[in-house]
Amino acid sequence: MLVVGSILDTEGARPAYVRFRKGVVVEVGSRGTEGPARRERVVHGIVVPAPVNSHTHLGDSVSVREPPPGPVSMLIQPPHGYKFRLLADSSPAEKVGAIRRALARMEAEGIAATVDFREEGRAGVELLREAARPTRVRVLALGRPVSRPVDRSELDRLLEVADGVGLSSARDETDETRWTVARACRARGKRFALHASEAVREKPEHYLDPHPDLLVHLAKATPDDLVTVRDERVSVAVCPRSNALFARQPDLGAMERVGLSVLLGTDNAMFHAPSIWREMEFAYVASRLRKRPASASFLARSALVEPWNWLGEPESALVAPEMPVAPLVLRLPPDDPAYQVVTRATEHLMVRTRPGSRRTRSAR
Ligand SMILES: [Zn+2]
Repeated sequence: MLVVGSILDTEGARPAYVRFRKGVVVEVGSRGTEGPARRERVVHGIVVPAPVNSHTHLGDSVSVREPPPGPVSMLIQPPHGYKFRLLADSSPAEKVGAIRRALARMEAEGIAATVDFREEGRAGVELLREAARPTRVRVLALGRPVSRPVDRSELDRLLEVADGVGLSSARDETDETRWTVARACRARGKRFALHASEAVREKPEHYLDPHPDLLVHLAKATPDDLVTVRDERVSVAVCPRSNALFARQPDLGAMERVGLSVLLGTDNAMFHAPSIWREMEFAYVASRLRKRPASASFLARSALVEPWNWLGEPESALVAPEMPVAPLVLRLPPDDPAYQVVTRATEHLMVRTRPGSRRTRSAR
């Protein structure tokens, strides 16, 4: 198959052609130099790295309803918030089924990987692993120990099956918990992440100490806080739809100007479908409500490029022969690709690159 149009990847946007064989990129070149098609299918469109959903709580998909009234703290705060009661009231089989449907939807949207915060200790991570068995979506599971103060042997058992730990926030946890968890993650080469400045501003010296691998939200961070986070070289996952549901927004334009590494996520699956395309468009449009919005190319990078850098796999964000993760082809006009992708992309525009490949459909 020959795609003629443009590429949007870690090197930015450019007119190009991309040749696929059996779903694998075999040739890339400047548009206009592709030569005549060799008895192959020709598609006009944009080739992008496969997107990553950089922040989910897939376990929450056991209940997909309008959120009950009340502050966000009553809904999602551990250990007794609405969502924790829902999780406690659902059977393991219900959770596995719900997570599996959410992953099927992500796969149908071409999402290659997700970074999931999985509550409920080791058992929670094991449920997620079980749910992820049939999917092609790579799941990075950041678990959460249950007991407080943290029980070292519980944490050890969690880290045997998890890729790291994702905590609620520095406000919700003691300094001792953060230090114990971060040290254990560091010692095992695993990742330590936490939410920060979601509903209220927290001090960077608090959430940056100990040094995390990833922060989530920063919706209430000041411009100075963003500079501090950048200087500490910590990446930030933002979830604009989830924040907007509770009347707040990350300042994506300020994040772009400061030069933060920003990753896009869809947050609690009880409130939003884990659709990266919906998130991208919302992020772009919501950012336009500010005087100095974020650019389309910055937001495209947050789903298509920055997560691969964070995962330590920058080569998956460069459309080239032998790239480790197959890119997506979107049937979109090739001009101004970042704007096209951010405002118009959906799974319906994805073109199959491998003959006979089928994607799972899901109603969630
Ligand atoms: Zn979250």
